[in-house]
Amino acid sequence: MFTTKQCRHGRGLFATKDISKEEIILTFTGPIITQADVNKKSDKKAANALQIDEELYIDLKEPGVLVNHSCNPNAGIREDTFLIAIKDISKDEEITWDYSTSVDTGWTMPCHCEEKNCRKEVEDFESIPESVQKEYMSQKIVLSYIIKKISQ
Ligand SMILES: [Zn+2]
Repeated sequence: MFTTKQCRHGRGLFATKDISKEEIILTFTGPIITQADVNKKSDKKAANALQIDEELYIDLKEPGVLVNHSCNPNAGIREDTFLIAIKDISKDEEITWDYSTSVDTGWTMPCHCEEKNCRKEVEDFESIPESVQKEYMSQKIVLSYIIKKISQ
């Protein structure tokens, strides 16, 4: 369904066939680590940890770790585990998700996705424009600990 190859952001994930909206692309896997473990990592390595709760992360393994961020993504994380297509994805297209749908710690990363709506900086979920937050929530691609937190 996908392959990894070099692209403008290092390695990335690319569709090897047309993928339909709502199709599961992959499952994110890796050891569970804590905030303290993440703090010990370099900035670049810390970016490989997927936050799944206030103090917990999945230290992502390939291929999940290779999926790049976009401010206008074609995929997202469903049930904290699966990468699913949120639109139809064409063969050879890069597969991306919006990292802010999982972030709640003050972690930031400059963005060069070059999409029209690029936010220039990847930050907490709350940094996303409200209309986009709502869109992501209706697509069920926001990490559950964030949903829990904002609905309190
Ligand atoms: Zn961007």
